[in-house]
Amino acid sequence: MIYDSIIVGAGPAGMSAGVQLSRAGLKVLLIEKNEAGGLLRNANCVENYLGFHSPCGAEMVMEFQKQLEDFSVPLVRGEVLEIQKGRTFSVRTKKKNYFARTVLLATGTEADLLEVSGEKKLAGKKVFYELADLLKNFNKGKILVVGGGDVGFDYALNLSGRGFRSILITRGEGAALPVLKSRAGKSGIPVYENVCVKKIGLGEKGLLVDCTQRQFKVDAVLVAVGRHVQMPKIGMQKRIKGLYFAGDVKHFAIRQSQIAAGEGLMAAMQIIHQLSNANRSRNRK
Ligand SMILES: Cc1cc2nc3c(=O)[nH]c(=O)nc-3n(C[C@H](O)[C@H](O)[C@H](O)COP(=O)(O)OP(=O)(O)OC[C@H]3O[C@@H](n4cnc5c(N)ncnc54)[C@H](O)[C@@H]3O)c2cc1C
Repeated sequence: MIYDSIIVGAGPAGMSAGVQLSRAGLKVLLIEKNEAGGLLRNANCVENYLGFHSPCGAEMVMEFQKQLEDFSVPLVRGEVLEIQKGRTFSVRTKKKNYFARTVLLATGTEADLLEVSGEKKLAGKKVFYELADLLKNFNKGKILVVGGGDVGFDYALNLSGRGFRSILITRGEGAALPVLKSRAGKSGIPVYENVCVKKIGLGEKGLLVDCTQRQFKVDAVLVAVGRHVQMPKIGMQKRIKGLYFAGDVKHFAIRQSQIAAGEGLMAAMQIIHQLSNANRSRNRK
C-alpha cells in the first residue's frame, strides 16, 4: 500500500494536517510514538488559541481527537526511525516499513536534560521531563520544578492547581511571562532564583536535590530547562520535493500550538497541490 501522505508526529501540527489531508480525500496515515496531542497535553491553561476559552491542553487535545475521528484519520503507534527516498518515500519503524508519495515531519521537540549526577538513574521514576509522565506516577506530593521559563511556571501552577506542593527553582531570575510569575506569586508557590541543581539522589524519605547553597527534599523533580528539535534519521537531503516540515520542529524559536496547527494545515495544502499537479500531468500524458 502506498499512502498519499504519511505524517510523523500527532501533535497539533500533525493532527491539523491529518484532518485537512483526509478532508481532501487523500490516503493518509499518522504515526505517533507516544500519545496523540504531543506537548500540548502538558499545558495548564491555553489562553492564546482563538476559539478556545482557556481550556487545559488535555481538553484541547480531546477536541482535536474528535476531529481526527470525524474524518477517520488512521493513527498508528510507533516510532519512526528513518525516512528514505526511492521511487516513493519509505518510512521505517521498528516493526514495519510504510510507503508514501509525500511525508510530513511534525515531530516537535524533546526536553533537554539537566546533565547532573543521579539524573539518568532516576529518570522516569522520580525525575520527569513532561508533566503528563509525572502524573502517571504521582497524584500528590512535593514536586521541585526546575526551570524559570513559561513551561516551568506553567508546570508549577498546574501542579499547585491539582493539590501538589510545587516549588520552582531557576538558575537566573526566571524568563517567564509576567502573568505566569504573578499567578505563581498569588498561588503561594515558592520561587528560588539563581539556584542551580548539582546532584540528585535518593534519601531515606524521598529525593534529595543538592543545589547551589541549598538542598531540597521532595518526592519528584520535573525538569523544564529547555528543549531541542527531534527528528528521525533522514537518509537524503532535507530540501527534497515531497518532504515537508511543520510545527515546533520547523520554527523552534516560536513554539506555540496555534502556529503549529496553522503550519500543519499549510503543509497539508502544499501536499494537496503537489499531488493534484502530479496527477494532472500524469493524466495529460
Ligand atoms: C507546559 C506547556 C505549556 C504550553 N502552553 C502553551 C500555550 O498556552 N499556548 C500555546 O500556543 N502553546 C503552548 N505550549 C506549546 C505547544 O504545546 C507546542 O507549541 C505544540 O504542542 C507544538 O506542536 P507540534 O505538533 O509542532 O509538536 P509536538 O506537540 O511536540 O508534537 C510532536 C509529536 O511528534 C511525536 N514524535 C516525535 N518524534 C517521533 C518519531 N520519530 N516517530 C513518531 N512520533 C514522533 C511526539 O511524540 C509528539 O507527540 C505549551 C507547551 C508546554 C510544554
